[in-house]
Amino acid sequence: MANVVDVAVIGLGPGGEDLAGRLGDAGLDVLAVERQLVGGECPYWGCIPSKAMIRSADVLAEARRVRDLAGSAQVEADWGPVAQRVRKLTADWDDTVAVERLEGRGCRVVHGVGSVTGPGRISVSGQVYEVRRAIVLNPGTSAFIPPVDGLMDTPYWTNREAIEAREVPHSMIVLGGGAIGVELAQVYARFGCTVTVIESGPCLLAMEEPEAGRLLAEVFEREGIHVSSNAKATAVAHDGTTFTVTLDGGDSLRADRLLVATGRSARLGPLGLNSVGVDISGRFLDVDDHLRLTDGIWAIGDVTGKGAFTHVAMYQAAIAARDILGEDGPPADYRALPRVTFTDPEVGAVGKTEKQAWEAGVEVRTGITALSTSSRGYIHAVGNEGFIKVVEDAARGVLVGATSAGPYGGEILGALAVAVRAEVPVATLRHSMWAYPTFHRAIETALADLDS
Ligand SMILES: Cc1cc2nc3c(=O)[nH]c(=O)nc-3n(C[C@H](O)[C@H](O)[C@H](O)COP(=O)(O)OP(=O)(O)OC[C@H]3O[C@@H](n4cnc5c(N)ncnc54)[C@H](O)[C@@H]3O)c2cc1C
Repeated sequence: MANVVDVAVIGLGPGGEDLAGRLGDAGLDVLAVERQLVGGECPYWGCIPSKAMIRSADVLAEARRVRDLAGSAQVEADWGPVAQRVRKLTADWDDTVAVERLEGRGCRVVHGVGSVTGPGRISVSGQVYEVRRAIVLNPGTSAFIPPVDGLMDTPYWTNREAIEAREVPHSMIVLGGGAIGVELAQVYARFGCTVTVIESGPCLLAMEEPEAGRLLAEVFEREGIHVSSNAKATAVAHDGTTFTVTLDGGDSLRADRLLVATGRSARLGPLGLNSVGVDISGRFLDVDDHLRLTDGIWAIGDVTGKGAFTHVAMYQAAIAARDILGEDGPPADYRALPRVTFTDPEVGAVGKTEKQAWEAGVEVRTGITALSTSSRGYIHAVGNEGFIKVVEDAARGVLVGATSAGPYGGEILGALAVAVRAEVPVATLRHSMWAYPTFHRAIETALADLDS
């Protein structure tokens, strides 16, 4: 009977770890399987170390603003403390504490590659387990490497090497202007690296409002980060020291490092889903709104394609755990999905962009205001770039999306996320008081602009 368990969780990203813990707390016999580090990408090569690096880069940027507002300051960037703090926060890429935490909640943690071998059956590195109640898949994503001529043969970086770096290169090309690319581009630039971002689309942060991408490109250019938009890399070469990236227009760029940040691909390969008749020819696993993939199997996290964010994985973990335990609860609802790009200016967004709202057939009205024209923006001065944009479903009089870009953009987003989630009538929002002089008070101005 040693190899019979109630639940097997394959992949322990933030969602899998949370779900395993919940089911362990509920008294189920949980086998938690992880091929690398318990906790996944977020604590070791994602959210946590990258946000620590951003914090350091932002401190440098603020210090450089002293001369505009408070006298003078001598600023000398040093990557040493950054590399050290990343090692501290990741426990030098050691998951002992996370394993102990899960074991403390009654889970059996096994390191190895897990795969489904049939209904109610999995194997971990050759060892077979019968699973009585549920198999949960949380395999996450890895950096997507585009099929660019020559790229695979070069020592390119992904987020992993960029997070683990012990020194700052003199120059770097960042392939991809999505959230990961722009966050890391700005960090490295603020530490003295000459950075060029290559983006195949017309603007940075292609998934967000175009105003956000344009704002970021303007700020980047002012900070000395070159942005090459509408540009596709067609070939990459490395001569032992320098990368050369050839663009479709014929230009070529050279740099010491190349960071590939062109999206993520789901780790579907070793999961063995053919054995239970699940099609893995798509980019993601197609789950229902209780995260069920097929009989007896649930999937959560990036692999579901609902948004590659830790908060999505953890939101889904709670829903799947309830479903497995037979408890009632609301199904997954992604209409108010929040996301934040932690650049300076920070870009927070929730729900639909204007374009997505039009495409969904919504009767769209938008309102927008520049933060620099708000009282707080005026007082804040240098570093006050940003805006608030709201997207209204005019037929229903509720917001279906919003963006807050600027200082504390991700924090200001909180109010907008509640408005979208709870469908607070725009009339109620308009007749509310917004504290003076906060940045979030600009929400009132953006709402007033709906009439213009
Ligand atoms: C640089 C960077 C910055 C980010 N910043 C943010 C941020 O600020 N905010 C935010 O919300 N999100 C951020 N993310 C995204 C976030 O890291 C992910 O959305 C989050 O980790 C959730 O992923 P997941 O749970 O699906 O899986 P992952 O975290 O990818 O974990 C999956 C785990 O499954 C394991 N695994 C895979 N296959 C198997 C198998 N067959 N057997 C056993 N184990 C397996 C893997 O080893 C891995 O540990 C960032 C990502 C990156 C790369």
